[in-house]
Amino acid sequence: MGKVDQQELAEFAQEADVWFQENTPGDPGFMLPLSFLEVGSDQQFDFLRRWQRKVYEAGYLGAAWPAEYGGGGLEPEFQKAATEAMRRHRAPIMLNAIGLNWAGPLLLDMGAEEDKTKYLKNILSAEDIWCQGFSEPDNGSDLGNAQLKAVRDGDDYVLNGSKIWTTLGNYAKYMILLARTNLDAPNKYAGLSFFLAPMCVDGVETRPIRKISGEYGFTQTFFTDARIPADCLMGEEGQGWLIAMRTLEYERAVRGGQAGGYIMTPIDVASVIDLAKEMKRDGAPAIEDPVVRDRLVEFLIEGQALRLCDARGRIAPLVQDRPMALALSMKLMWSEFARRLTAFAVTLTGAHGGYYVGDPNAPARGLWTRSYLNSFAATIGGGTSEIQRNIIAEHVLGLPKG
Ligand SMILES: Cc1cc2nc3c(=O)[nH]c(=O)nc-3n(C[C@H](O)[C@H](O)[C@H](O)COP(=O)(O)OP(=O)(O)OC[C@H]3O[C@@H](n4cnc5c(N)ncnc54)[C@H](O)[C@@H]3O)c2cc1C
Repeated sequence: MGKVDQQELAEFAQEADVWFQENTPGDPGFMLPLSFLEVGSDQQFDFLRRWQRKVYEAGYLGAAWPAEYGGGGLEPEFQKAATEAMRRHRAPIMLNAIGLNWAGPLLLDMGAEEDKTKYLKNILSAEDIWCQGFSEPDNGSDLGNAQLKAVRDGDDYVLNGSKIWTTLGNYAKYMILLARTNLDAPNKYAGLSFFLAPMCVDGVETRPIRKISGEYGFTQTFFTDARIPADCLMGEEGQGWLIAMRTLEYERAVRGGQAGGYIMTPIDVASVIDLAKEMKRDGAPAIEDPVVRDRLVEFLIEGQALRLCDARGRIAPLVQDRPMALALSMKLMWSEFARRLTAFAVTLTGAHGGYYVGDPNAPARGLWTRSYLNSFAATIGGGTSEIQRNIIAEHVLGLPKG
């Protein structure tokens, strides 16, 4: 990694700040999704796709990806500065989350040269949207048991089976797909292979699934004799588990290399404090209630501790004793924190928390109830909190399996 020219970095950060100040769109007049997990209408999709393309073309997305694949060829600090500017100006989320954050870094890390050239630039520009076909109706946490079949037939593989909870499934052009190519493998993991599968082929059907928040965002995806070219296989047959595990390291941000930007609207304690000033408890602003103040201070401390842990986890000499402890804990800690924080925000709205988006009585246009309902997504997607705890128990604490 090269040495960063601090003056160049400061100028870049300043330009990014001005750019996001001038270009961050105002209220589009319709409800935007809180995260990439709830893109439910063409209107939302088109808006976010145009926004991602604009950010990329301005040089503020993929700034640290290699220039030969469409990136900016800069050091990661530059992308970090651009992402901070997005955050400061409360810019809309990046749409192509799976491409930018897990398929893209995976390709850079393990992909064939022709695949890097074919896919990476279009991930950054949002030309090609990606989705992830890991979970199946009967195999989610037990991913190694995935059953969707991929059978080699001449120059193709023929796919049969079903994936579920496919985020962006109805908009995606490509899927990172875990499929079973060998039924006679010595164990369930060895029979799996990994594909960069096109979605626009005969025999692939997506059915949107509605969430508890009333929104859409994922699909059940059916494969019925769907033929994909054999060169969609990534690596060798039988390497699917290894590649899927590497993908999950990017998804859970255990490994760096993501293109940048954020994919979930940041919710911070400061906005819950604003809510506590606004909402009344026994006729007075809720913030004057000592119990409320106590909880808010706890959230402030916890939020700050998480930020510091995140920063510390990236400085190798500070985590020598247990190198993976923080990296493997962050997804669990952030997602559970967001769930508790949004639950607390709903309690501040009192009985009005029952009014939902679209109801004129709903405080903050229903944002908090919607955020709370959607907060469960991150505690399940990418591996549930229970599975994260199992991983920490086994891989960090060295406790026995089971
Ligand atoms: C919003 C959202 C978006 C998603 N997007 C995608 C996507 O794009 N692509 C994709 O492939 N998948 C996606 N998923 C699926 C997600 O990865 C799975 O839901 C998750 O891995 C859990 O699998 P499951 O739903 O089958 O639950 P199960 O595995 O059936 O688990 C049910 C319950 O049992 C618990 N449990 C299971 N095994 C154990 C164990 N060994 N120890 C302790 N507890 C256990 C779980 O924690 C959970 O509480 C998404 C999920 C959500 C919520």
